[in-house]
Amino acid sequence: MLIVHTIADLKARLNDERVQGHSVGLVPTMGALHAGHASLVNRSVKENDVTVVSIFLNPTQFNDKKDLERYPRTLEADCRLLEQCGAQMVFAPSVEEVYPEPDTRVFSYPPTDSVMEGAFRPGHFNGVCQIVSKLFDYVEPDRAYFGEKDYQQICVIQRMVEDFKWNIEIVPCPVIREESGLARSSRNTLLSDDERLLAAHIYRILSESKNLDQSVSETHDYVVEQIDAIEGLKVQYFSIVDGKTLADVGSWDDAESVVGCITVYCGAVPIRLIDHIRYK
Ligand code: AMP
Repeated sequence: MLIVHTIADLKARLNDERVQGHSVGLVPTMGALHAGHASLVNRSVKENDVTVVSIFLNPTQFNDKKDLERYPRTLEADCRLLEQCGAQMVFAPSVEEVYPEPDTRVFSYPPTDSVMEGAFRPGHFNGVCQIVSKLFDYVEPDRAYFGEKDYQQICVIQRMVEDFKWNIEIVPCPVIREESGLARSSRNTLLSDDERLLAAHIYRILSESKNLDQSVSETHDYVVEQIDAIEGLKVQYFSIVDGKTLADVGSWDDAESVVGCITVYCGAVPIRLIDHIRYK
């Protein structure tokens, strides 16, 4: 497995692959890799001749400096995991390599990028579009793999790809969970053992809400009340939305697919956790 740090090196290596007619899969990550990331890499390795995994803690998508500061950094262990998965290339650039000058580009895909995470983390999706568009430009992948763990992010990236008419297949991959049901996340390492137990209630309650047979607003209230009743958990938002546009739905029949997206603060620090459930 090759580890490259510069864009020039990455492009040269990929050129060599392309002249041989090899297909390229890209898995963008911010490092601190776990089984969730590995599932994306495994899938890409199966579907492409060459898999490039980028490891870059992108500062422009962090609206909260403290969140960026405490984000775990584990490059060596990440590379060991990627080697086991069979990835061919790791791209781990510095911030200066990616942003020699501040990126002033503005991306806007409402309501997809303006609701939920877009509303509570201003500038977050603009930063995501900045980095993902740069990575697409450097790598020119045939396919790019993203986890449904970040459900809204996939919807925003799909919109961006449609907007620019890029010939890149976006491959959504299912959420990988711990045995308790908690969605695997790099931020989980910041939780104590007790907080991890608490956090597992989020998916339990979301799953229960699928079987309620109640209206959208009753289902919404059930989830928020149940989670907020647990000491140490506090819902920031829970939105039941059209699974494609992310516009709010008033009834289950308002959209072809309906998804509930939630963000919960957990524990003393507190750590911000996101999850979602598909209702239809
Ligand atoms: P991140 O490093 O958090 O930016 O994540 C990189 C990619 O891995 C994103 O597409 C995430 O959605 C995906 N990912 C993170 N956690 C999981 C998980 N538990 N299951 C599936 N995909 C995940």
